[in-house]
Amino acid sequence: MHGRMMFQPLLISNLLDHAARYHGDTAIISKNTDGSISKTDWTHVSENSKRFANALKNLGVQMHDRVATIAWNNHRHLESWYAISGSGFVCHTINPRLFPEQLIFIINDAKDRVVLFDKTFLPLITGVKAHIPQVEHFICLGAFDQDVADALPEVKFYDVLIAENSDQFEWPEFDENTASSLCYTSGTTGNPKGALYSHRSTVLHTYAICLPDSLNLSASDVMLPVVPMFHVNAWGTPYAAAMVGCTVVLPGPGLDGASLVQMIDEYKVTVALGVPTIWQGLLTAAKQAGSVLPSLQRNVVGGSACPPAMMKAFRDLFNCETIHAWGMTEMSPLGTSNQLKAKHRNLSEDEQFKIRLSQGRPPFGVDLRITTEEKGTTEVIRDGHNTGNLQVKGHWIISTYFGKDESALTSDGWFDTGDIASLNEDGYLYLSDRAKDLIKSGGEWISSVELENIAMGHPEIAMAAVIAAKHSKWDERPIVIAIKHKDAQITEEGLLEYFADKVAKWQIPDKAIFVEAIPLSGTGKMLKKDLREKYDSVLL
Ligand code: ADP
Repeated sequence: MHGRMMFQPLLISNLLDHAARYHGDTAIISKNTDGSISKTDWTHVSENSKRFANALKNLGVQMHDRVATIAWNNHRHLESWYAISGSGFVCHTINPRLFPEQLIFIINDAKDRVVLFDKTFLPLITGVKAHIPQVEHFICLGAFDQDVADALPEVKFYDVLIAENSDQFEWPEFDENTASSLCYTSGTTGNPKGALYSHRSTVLHTYAICLPDSLNLSASDVMLPVVPMFHVNAWGTPYAAAMVGCTVVLPGPGLDGASLVQMIDEYKVTVALGVPTIWQGLLTAAKQAGSVLPSLQRNVVGGSACPPAMMKAFRDLFNCETIHAWGMTEMSPLGTSNQLKAKHRNLSEDEQFKIRLSQGRPPFGVDLRITTEEKGTTEVIRDGHNTGNLQVKGHWIISTYFGKDESALTSDGWFDTGDIASLNEDGYLYLSDRAKDLIKSGGEWISSVELENIAMGHPEIAMAAVIAAKHSKWDERPIVIAIKHKDAQITEEGLLEYFADKVAKWQIPDKAIFVEAIPLSGTGKMLKKDLREKYDSVLL
């Protein structure tokens, strides 16, 4: 016997309809590619989205076709990606910081028919155009621009299409399992692989990330997704914003600390999201500007481990609660987020802080386990100490990579994340490392993340990466590559001594190297692979 309740497919277009109908005058603030600010609201985002849906239909785009975007977080990007997924097309967000060869690979692998781009990325487009012959339409996300038209004669302009098309459009209804968007993993080894989300997985993920123990979002929030829309759909926040009807502040190309401080203070941002390197820039800039970010209630840190010193700085300087979250492209991305439980309320501030450093626990909809072997099925006990391979299962987790036939799962249906971690009795996740970044010294494993967290706790260190260097006796030993703060006096010995009372002696790095810059990936994570290639032999 079936329950006797209405059935409505879970569709992304419903999110936008809801925001327009119940939160129509809630502001959407957007920094444009030229640095100017546009102010719009959910009503107008919805209207433009429908206009653009008509435009795509008139261009002949068909159900399931891939439409790519190479753009910053701005209102045109937001309107167009609702138009794409809402129409039953697949929104393929592309990281503009990829190398041209990767860009070509991804566009061809996805078989994109249309590419939308911000003017900033025109050189990227003209550079790869000859190698992506199946792309039929290029649309520049802005008003008519002679320079763009000269460089790319067949280009169309978003604002022109919006003006030409009606806002009368009924979002089509289709199976909720229809593909909605496509993101490629960064592919540090081999070619990038695509994670193809569905409307159903996206809407369920959206419910989960809004929950109080996740990002705790509501209509009273002013949200700043610093994390780019091309980094796992800005962690799903533009969908969540429509679900709860909050204000969104889209930072455009202004991802430097000073621009972010200005946006947070001017638009009274309550919640901001990004990777640790972004927050490092913001901390420095806020100090320089003399701002204590009075409106900022919480910041969400994910993508890489949140250094304890950073969490402390946000608490002490800005009275801001840091939510540490973990996830990955294959998980839409949210896997865990950190909030305390009722039973933690009586703990001391120090003890609470220790719990807050963990990557957190999963919302309903994600299950976690730690196994003794990669792709294995034997579980490690949940005691907060025993580490192993982190595997996941749930409603918004990949089953098969885009374009591949073979399952991405273990024999019993779990996805192996490639991360090494432990779980405690309450399900709090403690991530030791990516399997490929762990350091194997004389048969013992050393977590690079733990050592980095310590180094970044030194008041004179701005950023630190710990990597394995080859060693004649121990196979591998940790070394630390660090950037000092301006005017810092710290020496190599000073930094190495700093580890002495914090980890076992055999875990202390063998060497510290000070550098001006650490290479970052397109999503702002430290590129340890590049560092290993460079410093791999320094101990031999
Ligand atoms: P990529 O880094 O390849 O671009 P993802 O953004 O999907 O791809 O990265 C997912 C990985 O990032 C995770 O498997 C994990 O190793 C790392 N990661 C994400 N969040 C955290 C966190 N809070 N702490 C430590 N590592 C994290």
